[in-house]
Amino acid sequence: MRRFLLGIAIVLVFFGALGAPSFVSQLSVAEAALQPRDPFIAQLIEHVQEAQLREHICQLQSAEGGEACNAQGSRWSCDSAAIDRAVEYTRQYFEKLGLSTKLDPYSLACRTGVSHNVEAILPGTDPGSSEIILITAHLDSVAQGVRSSRVAPGADDNASGSAGVLEAARVLSQYKFKRSIYFVLFTGEEQGLVGSRFYAARLKREGANILGVFNMDMIGYDSDDKAVFEIQAPDEDSYQLAQLLMTTTHHYGLALEPEVPDQAPPWSDHASFARQGYPAVLLIEDTELGETQDFNPYYHTTADTLEAINLSYAKRIVQALVGTVAQLAEPVQ
Ligand SMILES: [Zn+2]
Repeated sequence: MRRFLLGIAIVLVFFGALGAPSFVSQLSVAEAALQPRDPFIAQLIEHVQEAQLREHICQLQSAEGGEACNAQGSRWSCDSAAIDRAVEYTRQYFEKLGLSTKLDPYSLACRTGVSHNVEAILPGTDPGSSEIILITAHLDSVAQGVRSSRVAPGADDNASGSAGVLEAARVLSQYKFKRSIYFVLFTGEEQGLVGSRFYAARLKREGANILGVFNMDMIGYDSDDKAVFEIQAPDEDSYQLAQLLMTTTHHYGLALEPEVPDQAPPWSDHASFARQGYPAVLLIEDTELGETQDFNPYYHTTADTLEAINLSYAKRIVQALVGTVAQLAEPVQ
């Protein structure tokens, strides 16, 4: 460890003498996990609000024209009107936050017209760094199978994770960071990770320098109040992101029990990035993979509604995520 630090010091002196770019001072993922508790991060994560998560889940699960929060809506990717309404809601929200926002087009076999992912960027302040961090979730939903999903509220799967991305964007956009943070909502996930596969392949082609992807999928069900949440990491590099999440949970006293299962099946959008060789983790409630089990019985049914969501639990997961990404992006204080 000492030799490693000495190595960094030499590099700093060397580049310093050349009037070098400041990116040399940026932390690696492993170094970030060794940092002590930071009062600035502790204060930043206090801005995550349950009420904001609740409002987004209400909006996303509801059908237009009905009572507020009616759980009669759908975000089925094969139904253009349904999914496009959700895409528009999130696009407008990102724009309101002042983020550079765009729709990312791709084609999905089951729908007519073009499908879209939604991307919003909080640009980093350090011109010497091209490294980016992604916070992602899938916006689409299904119920009663994939053939017809006229009603598919998908509050937990995955309005919860989408709400987490929107809330992370609201909180983080109030600060400045050295590294850029991308907030991305995918569609076509339930049809085989289609939106994220297109997106990750494009970033790879463009030579994007992705430091880590943090994907949330189902972060709102905790019926036993044990607060277990899983961090699924497909490979060694991804495991470093998982370690940083665990350190953050511990340092900031978040009442959560993070668990890293041995297996990381390719069942959500992080897998599209892992396939391209990028470090990527999935944050998810307690599934059948780890030692304990508390899987949502309403998964992919019309009963997956806000009523069964534990908002306090979802909030703590979003806090762990926001604190982790803030550390890694390096706040400019
Ligand atoms: Zn899902």
